[in-house]
Amino acid sequence: MRIARFVTDSDPVYGVVTGEPGEEIITQLTGDPFYQGIQESGQTHQLDDVRLVAPIIPRSKLVGVGKNYAAHAEEMGGGLPSSPLLFLMPNTAVVGPDEPVTLPSFSDQVSYEAEMAVVIGRICKDVPLERVPEVIFGYTVANDLTARDAQRSDNQWARAKGFDGSAPLGPWIETELDPEALRITGTHNGTTVQDGNTSQMIFGVAELVSYISQAMTLLPGDVILTGTPAGVGLLSDGDTFEAEIEGIGTLLNTFRA
Ligand code: ZN
Repeated sequence: MRIARFVTDSDPVYGVVTGEPGEEIITQLTGDPFYQGIQESGQTHQLDDVRLVAPIIPRSKLVGVGKNYAAHAEEMGGGLPSSPLLFLMPNTAVVGPDEPVTLPSFSDQVSYEAEMAVVIGRICKDVPLERVPEVIFGYTVANDLTARDAQRSDNQWARAKGFDGSAPLGPWIETELDPEALRITGTHNGTTVQDGNTSQMIFGVAELVSYISQAMTLLPGDVILTGTPAGVGLLSDGDTFEAEIEGIGTLLNTFRA
């Protein structure tokens, strides 16, 4: 099931997206599916007639995972992590599909990173590997924008990874998906620059969720960005970037200085 968040002329509401590409329908939900389950209101729209927004704004946190694909760790230098390399982002980093992102004025080296995002569905702590599927709501597509110059100069990544607009998410959350072997691509101004597969992750989804939950309680709506394949590069004013994951969809954003 594809769960999206959208606006017509009022506040954002949730909906379920059905139908083939170009002919999708969105059926509005009553309430918040993270807390009230999936309850359809009966009201439907053509997907083209609504504006999608980020499918989730986490109430508590986004957790990022650095260097989780060997080929990307290699291009960044410094070897492979022996355990997941975690960082946090504020929820103000999140923007939605098709939303323009203003590149931060403190950086002239902002990179794209196409990533699979895991969306947590229930409060959990110390989750054993075999119970991870029970705590996952679904999966969406992310772009983990990174100010490389600030990442180098600051020693830690709060500013480099957490600036406003640094975490585009969307277009929706797919709730029925096996995340183990999905093609993940990044297309920069029409050219495919990243082409990997989630099977190449050093630490898989179950390991990541279990590991993170040993350190911090995860809440419904928390988002985990699972790392990017090789091929990262810098964005400029006027650029477009599409992150696409097999079985989920395509997240497109434009960038301006
Ligand atoms: Zn990343």
